[in-house]
Amino acid sequence: MKRFELPPLPYSYDALEPVISRKIMELHHDKHHAAYVKGANVALEKLEKARKGEMEINVREVLRDLSFNLNGHILHSIFWNNMRPPQENNRPGGEIEDLIVKNFGSFEAFQQEFSKAATSVEGVGWTILAKDEENNLYVVQIEKHNLMHIAGLKPILVIDVWEHAYYLDYLNKRAEYVNNWWQVVNWDDVEKRL
Ligand code: MN
Repeated sequence: MKRFELPPLPYSYDALEPVISRKIMELHHDKHHAAYVKGANVALEKLEKARKGEMEINVREVLRDLSFNLNGHILHSIFWNNMRPPQENNRPGGEIEDLIVKNFGSFEAFQQEFSKAATSVEGVGWTILAKDEENNLYVVQIEKHNLMHIAGLKPILVIDVWEHAYYLDYLNKRAEYVNNWWQVVNWDDVEKRL
């Protein structure tokens, strides 16, 4: 059966400074993301053993672990690639800009909706920009890694708003983290995901 692997960061740990510090990136990638990869693999191993009759499992519990950890792995893998070193006046262009304007009225209206969603996720989670098969765009909040997710939508831009993503740099000021994060969005990567 398939096993998941921790992908390397597409840049150095300090590449996103001063928006996100090296210390956060080291912990976030090497510890947190690694733990979700491990958790997803452990859940798969349990299912495999249960299928062979080698282990009794609580299926509901194992599937919940799989959903939590695998979504954590998938979302972090997108998150790293959605970012690049900070740029001033960082804006989308090309097809992704056209789609954002078509769906939200303007880039500023989209940015405001997405930022409000990201700052108001209850507890821990994510805000994502996702698309359906006809390239209609949706801003979606996700609690933890897996609750409130809309099945069938493909994430193209994601922000992690768990405290581990910003607390060392921003303490409780999640809004400041979200506001600065726009400088490191890699719009080329977002466009590639359309
Ligand atoms: Mn995270």
